[in-house]
Amino acid sequence: KKYLDTDFIGRNIYYFDSINSTNKKAKEIAFGEKEGTVLVAEEQANGKGRLGRQWISPKGKGIWMSIVLKPKVDPMTVAKITLLGAAAVHKALINMGIKSEIKWPNDILIDGKKVCGILTEMSAELNMINYVIMGIGINVNLDEDDIPEDLKDKATSIKIKKGEIIDRKQLLATVLNEFEKFYIDFINNNIVSKAINICKENSALIGKEIKVIRGEEIRLGRALDINEEGELVVEFKEGDIENIYSGEISIRGM
Ligand code: ADP
Repeated sequence: KKYLDTDFIGRNIYYFDSINSTNKKAKEIAFGEKEGTVLVAEEQANGKGRLGRQWISPKGKGIWMSIVLKPKVDPMTVAKITLLGAAAVHKALINMGIKSEIKWPNDILIDGKKVCGILTEMSAELNMINYVIMGIGINVNLDEDDIPEDLKDKATSIKIKKGEIIDRKQLLATVLNEFEKFYIDFINNNIVSKAINICKENSALIGKEIKVIRGEEIRLGRALDINEEGELVVEFKEGDIENIYSGEISIRGM
């Protein structure tokens, strides 16, 4: 068994029995916290996905956490941090003998169903980042009963896949250990290639027909690649190729 082995990620941890949302709380306290502070909760009453969507977070069944980061990098490069988180979760699952797929930019799938979602939020002024909050929700020990009817074909858990209860503490430590390695490469040397390669090699989208949804606009295309900037390269049906920054878009498989 291996527990936390980091320099600064998760060295300061706030534990909550119940909270509205770890990202919300993290944003409230981020200014006064050191980089690497982690907030983790047994349950979130109002867990958030992207674009204000709900993230169900049943008590004692998952890893519902947020990491406070203060990278001295260009705010434009922050989307890469989500990919570092996704690669870290992917590696932690590999450690448990599970091969997952990464659905760019922020979801991890097992057998095509979401087992983890990442929600990265930033506060920045001019070209200075005040803080980045990376929320990671992992469905660890949820049973089929814990998944609402309308999510049954979209969501799964590690327990459902493995058929056994998973040690959440150990998994949490492994994710933080793996994330710190990627993150240090990023902030010290601007290197994200290892993590991006993991996202490419295990992509749920590359080579597939996808829908790109931007507000009212929906376009069909094929995902070709994830480039060095962490953008999704899409060839649209009309023939134009575009690099998509994670921003405010949704991608659906078809
Ligand atoms: P997407 O990336 O699919 O556009 P989000 O990242 O915003 O969506 O995640 C929110 C969505 O994920 C919800 O609308 C719901 O469909 C689904 N969802 C909510 N809770 C969970 C969960 N615990 N596990 C898997 N999927 C969930």
